[in-house]
Amino acid sequence: MSETGQRPLAILGGTFDPVHLGHLRAAWEAAEFLDAEVRLMPASIPPHRPQPVASASERMAMLHAALKGQDRLQIDDRELRRQGPSYSVDTLLELRSEIGRHRSLVLLLGIDAFAGLADWHRWQALFELAHIGVLTRPGHSPAFSDALQREVQARRIESVEALTSTPAGSIIDITVSALEISATHIRAELAAGREPRYLVADALLAEPALLDPYRQSGTR
Ligand code: ATP
Repeated sequence: MSETGQRPLAILGGTFDPVHLGHLRAAWEAAEFLDAEVRLMPASIPPHRPQPVASASERMAMLHAALKGQDRLQIDDRELRRQGPSYSVDTLLELRSEIGRHRSLVLLLGIDAFAGLADWHRWQALFELAHIGVLTRPGHSPAFSDALQREVQARRIESVEALTSTPAGSIIDITVSALEISATHIRAELAAGREPRYLVADALLAEPALLDPYRQSGTR
């Protein structure tokens, strides 16, 4: 519990093209580990990067379906509503101004995403705004740049209490179940006419139109 008496707020950003059980289980385990409110935050993608196959509203519809029936994981669509792509540092600034200076804020990143952190816009400023929770999975240990390694050495903590009782500035590893699921693989399965059962939430299969963007991806 943070010094404000509120649970930490944790954010998992991603393309979610589509959201799958790897994302959902990691977010769920992080919510339990940190005793946090967790929000999945779909990103809008800069024009020079490969665009998601599904549109923003299609990705939102899949997220809504996948999260139905529980209230531990929420959706935050602010990056999609903003004009143009967002930098994480701007999103965290906005969140920080909403929640106040004291509540613990945690940016959750899969270890593969974390390994590239030093290439992000104003990445060191992130630590003034939030902690980083690195979702580690057995079998995934990408190399860190020297700059990132220095930051990890200075900021890594092991105690959840130390993280949740301070607003920002630390890095903690959160070991999550190793579910070897990727959106890339799911898109390929659907494009090949196969059903990604047990890789995505059942709710996505119960409403087949939700996954149509990938079934039709070869033709549109
Ligand atoms: P793609 O295959 O299209 O690159 P992805 O499956 O990696 O997509 P993203 O939306 O890019 O999904 O991931 C969002 C976040 O979730 C990232 O921080 C990523 O590291 C993490 N993540 C993705 N897949 C898993 C998984 N199977 N287990 C735990 N974390 C994951």
